[in-house]
Amino acid sequence: MRWAPWLAAALVVVSLASQTPTGAAPTPSSETAKKGAAAKPAANDKIVKITKTEEQWKKQLTPEQYRVLRESGTERAFTGKYWDNHAAGIYKCAACGLDLFDSKTKFESGTGWPSFWTVIPGHVEEHRDTSLGMLRVEVLCARCGGHLGHVFDDGPEPTGLRYCINSVSLAFDAKK
Ligand SMILES: [Zn+2]
Repeated sequence: MRWAPWLAAALVVVSLASQTPTGAAPTPSSETAKKGAAAKPAANDKIVKITKTEEQWKKQLTPEQYRVLRESGTERAFTGKYWDNHAAGIYKCAACGLDLFDSKTKFESGTGWPSFWTVIPGHVEEHRDTSLGMLRVEVLCARCGGHLGHVFDDGPEPTGLRYCINSVSLAFDAKK
């Protein structure tokens, strides 16, 4: 009769001991799951989308920025700030500040718009655009969805691409 309580206590200890690792298990496994989910958009360099109402954008942007970035407008050639900018630095999204183009990839296209042969990987999205009766590829900021311009396949080596971008969609950060 004396062994029974001892055995019962031992059984409780055993069952607690076996519960502890089981109870602790969900924490690391759910963290692993989270990491797995976060790893998926790794190509986008952990870009978290910014969503604002059109009213919020209107307050933040100048009328010309709003017309181009939010209504897919185009600035007049040779009128923008950056088509003839030759300084070294990074071109960012004028709406959200995301790095978009490196001055090392800018070239003279003669079009009157800043032109680049590549983008900062994952920071730009491309969509088919059939407006104006043409098939073009629209270029947008990957973070805020702002319209930047279009990409054409008549650019220089090494990519053969020409990203034709509105100055008004960009903010230039000169290298210090
Ligand atoms: Zn943006």
